[in-house]
This record gives sequence, structure tokens and C-alpha cells, in this order.
Amino acid sequence: MIGYEFSNLKEFKKLKCFVTDGLDGFSQPPYDSLNLGLHINDKMDSVLKNREKAVDHLGYMLSDLVVMDLVHGSNVEIIENKDKGRGSDSIKNAIPETDAMVTNEKDVVLSVFVADCIPAIIYDPENHVIATIHGGWKPLAGNITAKTIDKMVSVFGSNPNKLVVGVGPAVCGKCYDVYENVANEIKEAFPNFAKEVLIKNKGRIYLDIQKLMRLQLEDKGVKNIETSEICTFENKDFYSYRRDKETGRFGIFAVLE
Ligand SMILES: [Zn+2]
Repeated sequence: MIGYEFSNLKEFKKLKCFVTDGLDGFSQPPYDSLNLGLHINDKMDSVLKNREKAVDHLGYMLSDLVVMDLVHGSNVEIIENKDKGRGSDSIKNAIPETDAMVTNEKDVVLSVFVADCIPAIIYDPENHVIATIHGGWKPLAGNITAKTIDKMVSVFGSNPNKLVVGVGPAVCGKCYDVYENVANEIKEAFPNFAKEVLIKNKGRIYLDIQKLMRLQLEDKGVKNIETSEICTFENKDFYSYRRDKETGRFGIFAVLE
């Protein structure tokens, strides 16, 4: 069940977070077995049991969890105590059209569920604020990374230099060949990063989303960044949409105490 833990975040006693893998859950093939996604034809009962198991690992209940309705956009929402439970047992009341969320409320479990996109956590230890980000190519092209940090700065007074970031498992730059229109959008949005994140090989273009996110973070002044270095396409403990098409979602969970 525990797919990855960030060592740079582990030292903070008032923050609990981890990344799940796809193991030790209740779902049957092709979602076997710790699938967290409700929108992909898996049995609802199994997904809720899986989610319950994951939040229980942090000492919380399903009703403490907040889930976003991800749309591959770059909208960032502030989450309040009254949002607790939204999206936890139904898609209907999830935080709508949002790909990153920020909170300074204690005991509110933030999440992101993915299969190849990056699940990321940003923590501000000075102001005790957390954010979770869905780092797909499109949100990253819209610079969701900077938008999330800007929100932390404007609403909570965060200092980007002091932020601690975990960039979770995702498809790596060697396994992610993209269409030309995707490469062009990245090039247009980040001309300075294009050379480093877009690699041509045997007539194909490969995109390194983990490196793109790291460069975006560094560009905002973030220094403490840990990347999991796990490729979801290569490591079968994790779900990969690119590898299996019909598959589950693993996730990141983070909560302030
Ligand atoms: Zn790979």
C-alpha cells in the first residue's frame, strides 16, 4: 500500500503524507487492487474501502478526505474545514474543475489520484500550509506549479525559498512520447525549459514531466525538492494509464496536524 514516502517531508512531525501504490487493496482486475479512482467503472464499494484503508493509515476517516474533480486545467482552490468529506464517497460533490488545492486547516486530508501524471505535495513549514497538485502535462503547461505557489504566497504569506516539495511517481522522460502539438504547447509556454524537458529520439519526441515540474519549482525559488525517481510505466506496482489503458489510480495523501 505504501508506494513512496518523501524523506524531506518525513522530518516534520505535524505533517503526515504518503503516496500509495496499487497493492493490497480490494479491487478486482483490471483495477487490482488499491484503486482510488471512482470514475473508471470499478466497483464503488471496493474503491471506498481502498480510500478508507489509505486515510486510515494516516489515522483519519473517509469523511476527513477531500477529493478534486480533476480536469487537466490549472485552477487552484483553497480548502476549508467545511469542505471535509467532499468527493470522498461520490464524484458529484468533489471540488469541481480543480487540479490543485491548498489548505492551512488541520485534520483535512488532501489528495490527488493519478495513473502516470505527477502527484505532488508542497509544504510550508513556517506557516503550516500544504498543497497537493495534479501534475499532468496540461496543468504543467498552464504552470499549475507556479499558480499554486502564488496562491500560498498571496493567501498565507508563504516564502517560496522555505517550501519543501515532494514530486511523486510518474511516467518518466524515456517512456513518455508525445504528439507534436503537446511538445509545441510546452515549447511555447516554457521556451527556456524546452531543451531540457523535450528529448528527440528516433523520430519521436519525449517529454519529461518530472523535470518540467522541478524546473518550474526552481524557477519560483524553491530549493528543497525531492523527486521519487519512480517511473509508473516501468514499475508495475503503480498504475499506468499509458501501459494498461483500463486501470486504476494511485494517490497522494497529505494532512496537517
Ligand atoms: Zn520510464
